[in-house]
Amino acid sequence: MALIDGVSRLLIDGKLTPGGAGGFATVNPATEEVLGEAANADGADMDRAIDAARRAFDDTDWSTNTELRVRCVRQLRDVLGEHLEELRELTISEVGAPRMLTAGAQLEGPIADLGFAADTAERYEWTQDLGQAAPLGIPTRRSVVREAVGVVGAITPWNFPHQINLAKLGPALAAGNTMVLKPAPDTPWVAAVIGELIAEHTDIPPGVVNIVTSTDHALGAMLAKDPRVDMVSFTGSTATGRSVMADAAATVKKVFLELGGKSAFVVLDDADLAAACSVAGFSVCLHAGQGCAITTRLVVPRARYDEAVAIAAGTMGSIKPGDPTKPGTVCGPVISARQRDRVQSYLDLALAEGGEFACGGGRPADQPAGFFIEPTVIAGLTNEARVAREEIFGPVLTVIAHDGDDDAVRIANDSPYGLSATVYGADADRAAGVAARLRAGTVNVNGGVWYSADMPFGGYKQSGIGREMGVAGFEEYLETKAIATAAN
Ligand code: NAD
Repeated sequence: MALIDGVSRLLIDGKLTPGGAGGFATVNPATEEVLGEAANADGADMDRAIDAARRAFDDTDWSTNTELRVRCVRQLRDVLGEHLEELRELTISEVGAPRMLTAGAQLEGPIADLGFAADTAERYEWTQDLGQAAPLGIPTRRSVVREAVGVVGAITPWNFPHQINLAKLGPALAAGNTMVLKPAPDTPWVAAVIGELIAEHTDIPPGVVNIVTSTDHALGAMLAKDPRVDMVSFTGSTATGRSVMADAAATVKKVFLELGGKSAFVVLDDADLAAACSVAGFSVCLHAGQGCAITTRLVVPRARYDEAVAIAAGTMGSIKPGDPTKPGTVCGPVISARQRDRVQSYLDLALAEGGEFACGGGRPADQPAGFFIEPTVIAGLTNEARVAREEIFGPVLTVIAHDGDDDAVRIANDSPYGLSATVYGADADRAAGVAARLRAGTVNVNGGVWYSADMPFGGYKQSGIGREMGVAGFEEYLETKAIATAAN
């Protein structure tokens, strides 16, 4: 792959270009080695990218030529597939993603899901005929047309970069929008390679996709503020989401937000406690807990609290954080020293709040390099503790006692977030009843999997606004126009 020769480039108006602010290092989080350099865009680059996206939307037939778009999105899927193995190695080294996860949401899943976006556009009912009526006594023929919103500014985080970049690019492009993607500064290359492949191996017209890597968060804010941008599609922390929403308010642009979570794993008193708590412990170790929808609060029957803590600690204590290149690794590094220190500060806070560690609690002694954190179970706290309320984004599970189903639902819902939840219980109707009362955008009952191209993903409350993936995720990128023609 001629993609990365030690330096990646921006994609602006169909051209691969260096950054106006030079370059910045991208680092392997498992080794702390510098992989190479990414183009560092400045404000002038972002301005040109927005201008290119605006012109591509206003002056070409991209938004109306569905056949072209469907072909281009499939082409992008196919070309990413042709470079799968190189992309896999890059994703493992830049993101620190365990190899096993690249078979799913870290790489292969989102590439395949581009096909769903293309298929949706191909069979979508763009115009709906509502027939003739006589509102106010005036004979009128009515139709409802769906069309692209316009220029989409996409701002993404580092944890599952392909998943998040492609779940925005695919539907937004298939729906007829043009885009400026500003990926996270921690994972610039995995986005830049998509730009190189688009420029060199697809028919996507110049300006339709622009990819602007930068260390400067203000470039994301530019997207949110600029009147030439019609919609901002943001995934990241709730704090940044708030700022994006405020910045977008001045131009009243459409805002789509996928934010943080503090999701609950509810174990009912008829559940197989050992199975449930092992699954809960295992899931929080995946990609070192850097998943917004990971269930990081384990809510268990009070009578069996100590047992539940011991089971979770048994599972998590046996998972050693390590080399993500190895096929058996579940828990790799966190993305950066900053993130590791942030997780550590929450572990320190857990002790200060009166909690105790049933396993883990710090950095693994056998990993001198890399940004590793031991899988950690925090016990002895209630849902009022800050470590039970705030997103930690590391391999950390807080175990909380409940006093029956109503109390479990109360605890699960007692959070500023509402991204995801899990319920385990032997009686399927009872578990379904609890699931129905949870205020969360995705709910797993007894191990069901909601991650799928045709399932909408997103959050209630401060976990976001709108849905990604599924037909709902496609329709986020559409406007609705009602046309009423006088019928004589
Ligand atoms: P972050 O909010 O710090 O940054 C996300 C992106 O926003 C980056 O590209 C960053 O450069 C940009 N940015 C920063 N400040 C900005 C501003 N003022 N205006 C516009 N853009 C700005 O998030 P992160 O630390 O990269 O990612 C971790 C967070 O993302 C976690 O909170 C996690 O829960 C969340 N997340 C949510 C989902 C979801 O779908 N709900 C998915 C993955 C991650």
